Amino acid sequence: MTAPKDAQLLVALQDLEQMIKEAEDASKRAALEKMGFPVTGLEELRKAHEKLEARIPRALVSRYRRLTQRLGRAVVPVVDGVCTGCFTNIPSSFTSAVNQDKVVYCETCGRILFWP
Ligand SMILES: [Zn+2]
Repeated sequence: MTAPKDAQLLVALQDLEQMIKEAEDASKRAALEKMGFPVTGLEELRKAHEKLEARIPRALVSRYRRLTQRLGRAVVPVVDGVCTGCFTNIPSSFTSAVNQDKVVYCETCGRILFWP
């Protein structure tokens, strides 16, 4: 098994942060509990987040943080050759960079790209 690429780790980090945000939202939590889905394990989520973040190069994490503050969603999928952050066409040469385990940024909006 090969180690996950940095971009994949960032996708997981972003998902986890979304989950933590939702778990911390009291009104959302109450609504979920009403529907029969009590939100538990916030502490576990935070621990998993901490562990995950430790595996990602620090420079990449800080770039991710800046992007998140500026744009909301920092890591976006490329669908049909288009960045779903700004809907610009992504040159196919980018795909080969990703195959070499490089983290690729959208040239137009600066978001971190991944190919789902
Ligand atoms: Zn873009």
